[in-house]
Amino acid sequence: MFHLASSLYDRFSRREQYNILILGLDNAGKTSLLEHLKLVYPGPGEKKKPGERDTTQILKSKRILPTVGQNVTTIRYSTQSQPRHAVNLKFWDLGGQRSLRNMWARYYSSCHGIIFIIDSTDTERFQECYDTLVDVTRHQSWRDEAGGPGPGHDSVNVPILMMANKQDLPAAVDLVSLKTGYFIDLVSELDASDSKLLPVSVLENQGIRESLDWLVSRIVYNKTNRLPEYR
Ligand code: GDP
Ligand code: MG
Repeated sequence: MFHLASSLYDRFSRREQYNILILGLDNAGKTSLLEHLKLVYPGPGEKKKPGERDTTQILKSKRILPTVGQNVTTIRYSTQSQPRHAVNLKFWDLGGQRSLRNMWARYYSSCHGIIFIIDSTDTERFQECYDTLVDVTRHQSWRDEAGGPGPGHDSVNVPILMMANKQDLPAAVDLVSLKTGYFIDLVSELDASDSKLLPVSVLENQGIRESLDWLVSRIVYNKTNRLPEYR
């Protein structure tokens, strides 16, 4: 009885926590996104929000080095439609160089959602980007967990937010062209699972809030399949 009461207490007094992987090729903007989140959102224990800052200037003046290990940060977040329901989001920025990508799969079983960042100006690597995302979604570990292949169980079972980043640059390919051109097969394939491709500029703080709102609402919706942690 005591155990039941204390676990119920834990459940209601602690906050739900979700793990989100930030994936994508190197130079897509993964670490910039993480740095942006750190600047804008409070940590789990922080009372006050730092408020909207001019993250553009701060990010531009930072020298962000290619990620070798992993960068992790946890923020407190509530969507604009549910401002009273705050959750903790723990973001993992894993290195995107080819040699580091095979590490990603280790994190699949404990993640609740994926952000896949695309550099919308890097047309030369769109194919590589496409192949990389397909590899993620078709990875064996999603299947193992679902108890073997079968209808509805042969693919990724967490929401995927694809961010078409660097939309501030003139050379950026716009969303419609991405959806109907380079990424058309992927978009239609992923349509069956929970995914969305949205335009953003991490550097100019455009589209980030909207895309995170989408991701968080889908992650919370999926919480009976992927139970949150409580912190
Ligand atoms: P990562 O390798 O995926 O972690 O990418 P980084 O975060 O290190 O960013 C790679 C480069 O892209 C850096 O020079 C960033 O300043 C730049 N970058 C990231 N996001 C944007 C963006 O939205 N717009 C522009 N113009 N540059 C960006
Ligand atoms: Mg990086």
